[in-house]
Amino acid sequence: MKRFRSSTGPKFTSSFTKAPSTQQCQKCLQYGHYTYECKGGRVYNARPTRTQQLHKPTKRIQVEVPEEFLSKKGLAAKILKEKEEERQRKKEEKDKKRNKKKRRRRQCIVFIFRIITRTKLEQEQQHQQSILQLVSFVAIVVQLALEIAFAHFSS
Ligand SMILES: [Zn+2]
Repeated sequence: MKRFRSSTGPKFTSSFTKAPSTQQCQKCLQYGHYTYECKGGRVYNARPTRTQQLHKPTKRIQVEVPEEFLSKKGLAAKILKEKEEERQRKKEEKDKKRNKKKRRRRQCIVFIFRIITRTKLEQEQQHQQSILQLVSFVAIVVQLALEIAFAHFSS
């Protein structure tokens, strides 16, 4: 244990001492080895200071917004209007259907009414005809009676 204390590196020698290719050395900033294995020299990575970063105008993130959401003002009104329109459309459709049903019902009623009136008319006509027949029968009987009476009186 004593010989490892003074130096960096693995405490135990194992079979996988090789660094993966994603491992970056913090000394030379190369990949593929650990820092304690580094044989390269120290490199300086120049980065912008915080002040420089703050002075640099940052690019604003542009979020793609659908056009309907761009004008916040009329959004609620727009949605309400659309809903109202849809409701109106549905109502009109319903009314149309109802009207169709009504018309059909009315046609049916008219048809039945016609049949009833026709039968009534026919009945009336038949009635009149029977009355006429009765009247003509009575007339014939009266005529016969009169003829008989005349014959009786004349003889
Ligand atoms: Zn290195």
